Amino acid sequence: MTDTSTRQARIAWFERICGDLHERFVPLTDGEPASYIPELATVDPDRFAIAAVTTDGERVGVGDHDHAFTIQSISKLLLYGLALETHGRDHVLERVGVAPTGDSFNAIALDDDRNRAPNPMVNAGAIAITDLVVGATLDDRVEAVRSMYERYLGHRPEVDREVWTSERATGNRNRAIAYLMLSRGIIDDRVEQTLDLYFAQCSVLITADDLATIGATIANHGVHPVTGERVVRRDVTRDMLTVALTCGMYDYAGEWAYTVGIPAKSGVGGGIVGMIPGAGAIAVYSPRLDAFGNSVRGLRVFEELSDEFEMHVFDPDSPWRGTD
Ligand code: GLN
Repeated sequence: MTDTSTRQARIAWFERICGDLHERFVPLTDGEPASYIPELATVDPDRFAIAAVTTDGERVGVGDHDHAFTIQSISKLLLYGLALETHGRDHVLERVGVAPTGDSFNAIALDDDRNRAPNPMVNAGAIAITDLVVGATLDDRVEAVRSMYERYLGHRPEVDREVWTSERATGNRNRAIAYLMLSRGIIDDRVEQTLDLYFAQCSVLITADDLATIGATIANHGVHPVTGERVVRRDVTRDMLTVALTCGMYDYAGEWAYTVGIPAKSGVGGGIVGMIPGAGAIAVYSPRLDAFGNSVRGLRVFEELSDEFEMHVFDPDSPWRGTD
């Protein structure tokens, strides 16, 4: 077989696997869409997509793979990369650590010993990271985030205005976390502006295809697999993948690392992206969540894939390990 036909055969094979998993988990209707952000409760709970993109730009998509949903906490991973790139590790580590908490993502808890937020994947850390977005005005700062998204997505991001408004109207817990950090000198005195930006970054609309492309860019050490553009610095992707593995799945992160073992990030919109360094990324979208805030079907799909295809990053027999 030629190279191209081998490749096509592999893609077709993986598409069949994703199709089978999709079919198998459609009947799984445990969990509920997030409702603490009222607008999120209005999504169609039955939506279900699996998408994958390889580091050389091949793609697979089954189910509702082009249906848009809000990125939510998955944005935290991208903003973390932006902060590291803009300010460097030391500056970022002064405000936000890298230790998993075992607490829920919206816990009102800081690292008191070091006077910083525990990690960039819980809301406290993410808000502190958003505070680090540079710009004199809200517009400048929105632009910085927008152009970051544009590089990942290959197009201008759209914000779900209803979700944004809904988060703004009801995000008092995040407000409490932010003001606590202001009182401790962890973030600057522009709390409402930073929260506005944080809510906007969470309300960006993506599809499962987009999410897999974002993940594949990170798995490809920062180079977009389709446009070939460098989106984020190579050394920074190492730190992004590390916190994804240790903190990406909320307080389920430890079990996830043990059983699935794929650096991943989930969002309460129902998305999960898993990144296999050097190989590519898989995205699942299904809005019914478990008590941790992770997509129920998403979890099952990743468990199956990791198990059957040796995708755990520490699997000694992993066939997925990239070479570059
Ligand atoms: N915007 C959401 C919040 O701050 C994001 C949380 C999430 O996806 N876990 O509550």
